[in-house]
Amino acid sequence: MLEATPRTALVTGAAVGIGHAIAERFERDGWAVYRFDRTLEDGARAVRGDVRSEADWKRLADRIGSEAGQLDVLVNNAGILREAPLEDTSLAVWDEVIGVNLTGAFLGCRSMLALLKRGDSPCILNVASIDALRGSLRHSAYAASKGGVDSLTRALALELANDGIRVNAICPGTVDTPMFRSIHGNTADRAQKRLALHPLKRISTAEDQAAAAAFLCSTEAAFITGASLSVDGGRAIR
Ligand code: NAD
Repeated sequence: MLEATPRTALVTGAAVGIGHAIAERFERDGWAVYRFDRTLEDGARAVRGDVRSEADWKRLADRIGSEAGQLDVLVNNAGILREAPLEDTSLAVWDEVIGVNLTGAFLGCRSMLALLKRGDSPCILNVASIDALRGSLRHSAYAASKGGVDSLTRALALELANDGIRVNAICPGTVDTPMFRSIHGNTADRAQKRLALHPLKRISTAEDQAAAAAFLCSTEAAFITGASLSVDGGRAIR
């Protein structure tokens, strides 16, 4: 446990994968965690919604405002990957990927700003990707969206520093989640090639990412803002 004081957090894309692991980790640390996902049913601190929808963000902000009165930690994690060469990347696919991954993070930061300003040691964590740092085949829309998330992180870190809000990103390598399995899990050969790309000789668990998130969102990281932390078993430095 990194944080003695319980915090109120919101994690998007929290139904499965990395977002789920981050939400579970925060809850284990005693935090109150709101989970926002297009596949969840509305329930206790669970909100069904689409990160591309301003109306859904407004509903969520109203609910957190009336129940908790403030927000200490926002994690913009929801994301999608569409793999295709450029000539097969339709405008609809491009718009969908940019919409969820980049516009969703922008809307999250803007919608939660007033609540974060009332928070204790407030911070935002964006989940970017190794694709923001390196070229990636057949991932043009995804890589562009994650490069945008990386830049958004630095821009907002500067802008929100006056409000005492830290803004950081993690850049996962390959993580064993439903997203990864939908792309790579179908052929043992492709999955094996992924392993070989990671100097630490394994791909990441979602919990590896959650551990980095727990640190960056804790007051142990009080002097870290504008950082993009690679959590990739050394893949980006190969
Ligand atoms: P996942 O597909 O396993 O889970 C994503 C979650 O986001 C799901 O619960 C899904 O319902 C939700 N979601 C998707 N679109 C949404 C929308 N429009 N509104 C609300 N919720 C939505 O993915 P994951 O692997 O856990 O990835 C989480 C984040 O990490 C993503 O931003 C992804 O780009 C990033 N990432 C993943 C990997 C990897 O290898 N898995 C690597 C680098 C970065």
